[in-house]
Amino acid sequence: MGLVLSGISVARGIAIGKSLVLQADFPEIREYTVPRPLLAEEISRFKLAVKKAKRQLKAIRNRIPEHIPAEIAGFIDTHLLMLEDTALAEAPLAIIRERRCNAEWALKIQRDTLVEVFEEMNDPYLRTRKDDVNHVVGRILRNLMGQSHKEEDSETRFHGRIVVAEDVSPAEVLAMHHQGVAGVVTQYGGANSHTAILARSLGIPCVAGVPSLLDYVLNDELLVVDGQQGLLMAAPEAPELEHFRRRQREEKHNRAQLRRIRALPAVTRDGEAVQLLANVEIPEDIPAARRMAAAGIGLYRTEMLFLNRSEPPDEEEQFETYAHIVRAMKQAPVTIRTLDLGADKAPGGAFRRHVVAANPAMGLRAIRCCLREPELFAVQLRAILRASALGRVRLMIPMLSTLQELNQALRLLEEAKETLRHRRQAFDPELAVGGMIEVPAAALQAGSFARRLDFLSLGTNDLIQYTLAVDRLDEQVNYLYDPLHPAVLKLIQRVIQAGRRAGIPVSMCGEMAGDVRYTRLLLGMGLRAFSMYPASLLEVKQIVHDSDTRLLERQVKRILRAERREDILVQVERLNDPD
Ligand code: PEP
Ligand code: MG
Repeated sequence: MGLVLSGISVARGIAIGKSLVLQADFPEIREYTVPRPLLAEEISRFKLAVKKAKRQLKAIRNRIPEHIPAEIAGFIDTHLLMLEDTALAEAPLAIIRERRCNAEWALKIQRDTLVEVFEEMNDPYLRTRKDDVNHVVGRILRNLMGQSHKEEDSETRFHGRIVVAEDVSPAEVLAMHHQGVAGVVTQYGGANSHTAILARSLGIPCVAGVPSLLDYVLNDELLVVDGQQGLLMAAPEAPELEHFRRRQREEKHNRAQLRRIRALPAVTRDGEAVQLLANVEIPEDIPAARRMAAAGIGLYRTEMLFLNRSEPPDEEEQFETYAHIVRAMKQAPVTIRTLDLGADKAPGGAFRRHVVAANPAMGLRAIRCCLREPELFAVQLRAILRASALGRVRLMIPMLSTLQELNQALRLLEEAKETLRHRRQAFDPELAVGGMIEVPAAALQAGSFARRLDFLSLGTNDLIQYTLAVDRLDEQVNYLYDPLHPAVLKLIQRVIQAGRRAGIPVSMCGEMAGDVRYTRLLLGMGLRAFSMYPASLLEVKQIVHDSDTRLLERQVKRILRAERREDILVQVERLNDPD
C-alpha cells in the first residue's frame, strides 16, 4: 500500500498526478556589509524589487476569473496596499542606511519586527495579517535575489501537477489554477483560510494541515489527493490507483449528470418540496446563484460591504447594493442579514473601535455590535427596508442570544419604518423578520424566538463553535469541530421542532447545509430549506431527488438517540449509502 498521510479536508475531489514540491516561502538570507559608496545602489535595488512586486500582483489581479468572490480578489489589493505602506516600502531603506547592510537583510529585520507586533495581538483577524506580511515580503525577497515566483516559472509548470508546499497564498492558488494544477496539499493552514475558500470555489482538490508533509513527499512522485477525506497517498500501488481513477471517472460523470437536473424542482421521492437557496457575500456572487437555479438567497452577508474601508457605507450606497441584488433575483426571496461585524470580520478605520476584544468571537459581535451602535444599525435597517419595496426581501438578525436583544432590534426596526414613512419612502410593510440561531442559548430557547419571528435560520458554523467551545479559525482544535457531535444534533433538532410548532419556516445557512454528507440526515430531521455556496446546490438537489423523507425520519430518530459520535457516524454513512 502507498504511504497515506492525512490532513484537513479543504476542497473535495480526487486528484492524481506527479508532485511538485515547492521551496519554503523564504529563501535563505545572509547579512553582508555594503560599502558606503554602494549604498545608493543598494537602496535603488530594493525600490526596484518593490516596484516589480507591484507589477506582478497587478498582473495576477487582472487575470482573476469573474466568478471569484471580490473578497478573495481583495486580498491581492491588500498586498498591493502593503507594498505602498511605509512599514514595508520605506522602513527597510532606513535600515540599509543605518546598518549598511544588504537589502535582503534589512527586509528580513523589518519583517521580523512586524510579525512580532502581529503575534502579540489578540485579534485573530490581525493575526492572519501576519501571513499577508510573509507573502508580500517573500515576493520582494525573491525579486531581490533574482529567484522565480511560484506562479511565473513557466506557463505549464503546474499543469496536471499536485503542488506540495508549506503554505500557498490566495494569489498563488489563482495562478496555479490558470495553469491547470491538479491538486494542492499544504503542511499548514486549515479549512477556513482564504486560500481554502478559493480552492473550493475554483474546484481544486485540496488538503491542508498535513503534519511533516515536506519530510515525506519527494518531487516528481506519483500522488493521489482525496480532498473529501483529507488524505494524500504517495506511491500508490496499481489496485489503489485503479480505485481512485474509478472514483475520478464517477465524479466527472456525476457532474455531467448534475447539469441535467438544474431546471428540475427540488422535490423528494415522497413529494416533499425542499427549498435550495444560495449564500452570497457580494453582488458578484448572484450570477452563480442564478446559474445553479437557486430558489432565492438564504443568506446575504452584508458585512462584506463594510470591510477593507475606514468609514461605513452610507444609506444610499447600502440601498443601491441591496437593491441591485433584489432586482437581480427578480421575485425570488432575498434574505439580507444585518451586520455581523466582529470576530474575524473586523472593519478598518475609526469604526473598528468596538470590535477589538480579548476574545472576539465571544465579544461585541453581530447584533451586539449593532445595538451598541444604534445609528450604524439604523442606517442599515433603512437601506434594507427601502430595498424591500423592490422585491421579496427578508431581514435576518445574526447571533441573537437573548429575547431582549430581539426586542430592542425590533424596536429599532419600527423606528426605521417610522422615519421612512415621514420621508414618504416606500418599503414592504409585511417585511419578514427572521433570526439566526447560532448561539446555544438561542437554540435552547428557540420556541420563544420562533413565536416572535417570521423564520429562523440555523447558523451551524457558529452553533458548532459555541456548543463545542472550538474556535472555528484555529487549526489546532479543528479535529474537535464536529457537526455530528450528539449535542450539536440535539440543538439542531430542537430548533427545527420549535419552528414547526410555531408554524414558521426553519432554514440552515451554515456550511453544513451545503455538505452532501449531511443532506439526508437533515432531511430526516425535518429540515426543508438549505442555503449554501452556489457550487453545492445541484449535488444537494440530486440527493433530495433520491431521498424518501418518511423513511429517513424513521432512521434519523435512531441516530438522534445515539450517545457516541462513532455510532452516529456509522449510521449516517448507512443513510448515505444504504447498500
Ligand atoms: C454560521 O455561523 O453558520 C453562519 C452562516 O454565519 P457566518 O459563517 O457568517 O458566521
Ligand atoms: Mg455565524
